[in-house]
Amino acid sequence: MSHFAKVGRVPGDPILGLMDAYRLDPNPAKLDLGVGVYKDARGLTPIPHAVKLAEQRLVDTETTKTYVGGHGDAAFGRLLLDLVLGTGNRLEATGRAGATQTPGGTGALRLAAEFITHNLPGRGVWLSDPTWPIHETIFAGAGIKVAHYPYVDATNRLDVDAMLTALEQVPKGDVVLLHACCHNPTGFDLSQDDWRKVLEVVKARELLPLIDFAYQGFGDGLEQDAWAVRLFAEALPELLVTSSCSKNFGLYRERTGALIVCAADAEKLTDVRSQLAFLARNLWSTPPAHGAAVVATILGDASLKAQWVEELESMRKRVADLRRGLVEALQPFGLAERFAHIGEQRGMFSYTGLSPEQVAKLRAEFSVYMVSTGRANVAGLDFSRIDDLAKAIAKVC
Ligand code: PMP
Repeated sequence: MSHFAKVGRVPGDPILGLMDAYRLDPNPAKLDLGVGVYKDARGLTPIPHAVKLAEQRLVDTETTKTYVGGHGDAAFGRLLLDLVLGTGNRLEATGRAGATQTPGGTGALRLAAEFITHNLPGRGVWLSDPTWPIHETIFAGAGIKVAHYPYVDATNRLDVDAMLTALEQVPKGDVVLLHACCHNPTGFDLSQDDWRKVLEVVKARELLPLIDFAYQGFGDGLEQDAWAVRLFAEALPELLVTSSCSKNFGLYRERTGALIVCAADAEKLTDVRSQLAFLARNLWSTPPAHGAAVVATILGDASLKAQWVEELESMRKRVADLRRGLVEALQPFGLAERFAHIGEQRGMFSYTGLSPEQVAKLRAEFSVYMVSTGRANVAGLDFSRIDDLAKAIAKVC
């Protein structure tokens, strides 16, 4: 008998399928705006120099590869809390905030899902529609009821009123997942005024916010991007934040991130953290050490940190300039106004507003690859190709 005879096949990730098609395309002028990683002018995803220097230092000084504890590298946790909540923040000082190191932001979300399902049974999780597809499967996979609040209107523009109206109907006590900045996949971020309104609804409905912070430093800057997280951390007794070091440190494959918990007092934080260590033990036992050691080395050293901040800032600026450049290049075709939102969005992703038919045409006629929803990875573009892309867009519009 075959044990696997009844095992079927699930379709692969559609974005990875897009990457395969791009690779096979012989057109030398092809353009990959699909997969969501930062790329430089050469189309490469670079390792920041600060990371290389920190790695060299670790090679020279590391004395053991024995396990780290269940919450990971303590120095990493402390320094990441400073980065996310602000140096000298009140929560850390009063023992109300703690970080548990996880394999990337995905691991942090997985751990949050386990915590919700085991320790807050019966709570639903509310996701923006649309959101990063893995949000959908992680929470459903943990046995949690997943529901959605609208984020864009029928024309794929940000719709804060619809979002607020929907959140006002969320059952008391449920969990609401919010993107701290650089919303994936749309690129539309809330204004400070919008965030204050969301906070009011969260308070009124007694919701538990889970803020996904995967792109700190890619929106308006390291401190600016943390504004909403800090607003919520100051205003609420309890909060969950998932932080990823994949994009901002270029550490993607090193799987570096953390689940940050803010609790009402130090005693309750210790209770929650004991549960997280217990749950993490069943998931991955202890987290991978290397990426977190790199981050701790950088953040703990003024000169490495300054270098990293500069490198991150140049990645952020490049994407912001590409956005503005594309809108300008669409001007001669009379399309600058129609696509002005691309310049206003933040982070790598853009809901361009192109229809699935237009996306298909871009691919068939110009070898421009993006997700069928019209999501483009702006970082996949280069200044030398902006005019080509503008021409192609004008042709399919
Ligand atoms: N959240 C969002 C919104 C993301 O886009 C990503 C990365 N694509 C993650 C979390 C997780 O990132 P990682 O696990 O690579 O750190």
